[in-house]
Amino acid sequence: MKVLVVNCGSSSIKYQLFNMMDETVLAKGLVERIGLEGSVLTHQPDGKDKVVIQEDIPNHSVGIKLVLNALTDGKHGVITSMKEIVAIGHRVVHAGEKFADSVLITPDVMNALEECIDMAPLHNPPNILGINACAELMPGVPQVGVFDTAFHQTMPKHAFLYGLPYEAYEKYGLRRYGFHGTSHKYVSQQAAEIMDQHLTNLRIITCHLGNGASIAAIKYGRSIDTSMGFTPLEGLVMGTRSGEIDPAIIPYLMKKEGMTPDQIDSYLNKKSGVLGISGVSSDFRDIEGAADTGNERAQLAIDIFAYRVKKYIGSYVAAMGGVDAIVFTAGLGENSPDIRDKICNGLEFLGTRIDPAKNKIRGKAQEISVDGAKVKIFVIPTNEELVIARDTRVICGGLI
Ligand code: AMP
Repeated sequence: MKVLVVNCGSSSIKYQLFNMMDETVLAKGLVERIGLEGSVLTHQPDGKDKVVIQEDIPNHSVGIKLVLNALTDGKHGVITSMKEIVAIGHRVVHAGEKFADSVLITPDVMNALEECIDMAPLHNPPNILGINACAELMPGVPQVGVFDTAFHQTMPKHAFLYGLPYEAYEKYGLRRYGFHGTSHKYVSQQAAEIMDQHLTNLRIITCHLGNGASIAAIKYGRSIDTSMGFTPLEGLVMGTRSGEIDPAIIPYLMKKEGMTPDQIDSYLNKKSGVLGISGVSSDFRDIEGAADTGNERAQLAIDIFAYRVKKYIGSYVAAMGGVDAIVFTAGLGENSPDIRDKICNGLEFLGTRIDPAKNKIRGKAQEISVDGAKVKIFVIPTNEELVIARDTRVICGGLI
């Protein structure tokens, strides 16, 4: 059973083709610069050389067609016919309160996703374009939507509501939704597996620290709180996003700088975070490099980032009445021993400490706390594509 996993951005398509018999990746790749000059497909078949195809890709439909051609190509393909793809799983960012789990895409589901565009204007439209393109090119092949927001739908009302008039929730759906749900779910399940315990017995804090960063409190298998909110702007300080700030700063800055709503949105989403603080880069590799050579603002960006993560960990321990494991994942969480060390330094009162030798690990699942620690600390590489493929297999199992 071969499942294609598709993640459409505004000008990109990421894909992986899974053989679900053994969950191996047969090929993966990336279409970039859709609708722009210099569009390109980079296709990596398993066990064969990488192929780079530079071609005019005016829209997502042409992009998906190119992906299907690459997958079935006589030389660098991995399947003989498109018919081998029995189901398609799509990453969809925002499903609002409509879905608490992955679903088979139907016309009703598409209507629901259209209704969520207002809440995710940058993300949902390309997700919808990708689903429509696949439906057009592979008619009859079942498609599944896997939502970033779904896993956090278990949050109780006291965690997801803001201190706004209740009508703002009723009228506009203004509440915390949370994102990166697929990743938080996957790494918490992996942690339980490594600990040889049922997820339903564990309180886990998962730290997804990438360019976008969020943290979740997962109590007995259910997300009970998470740092991202109505949009992926809230919570931790990120690569280019401010994370939480005093909301009064927004009208203040708009007045002082004469900013429009779109300009302040861009300021908070694209010019802030560790990029804005350091003035160096949004990438922690550059920031760590600059800090090592004495750049004070780069060091400050690292300090602010780590301090915010530590504060969230503390608050989620309180929210869950304790913690059994802390998990680090995503680009930075998986690859930066220094950041992990900085975040955990001072958490000894919880009954845990990082083992410096174990903490040298990069991109591999491993416990990094000292032997016998009451609270385990793990590095666990995330694999959102695999979760999407698995959900697609489960949902489509009876249809194919
Ligand atoms: P992601 O969004 O999960 O792809 O994570 C991207 C971010 O991870 C980059 O912007 C870097 O800040 C960080 N990152 C990736 N690899 C490393 C590394 N080896 N050391 C430090 N940071 C890294």
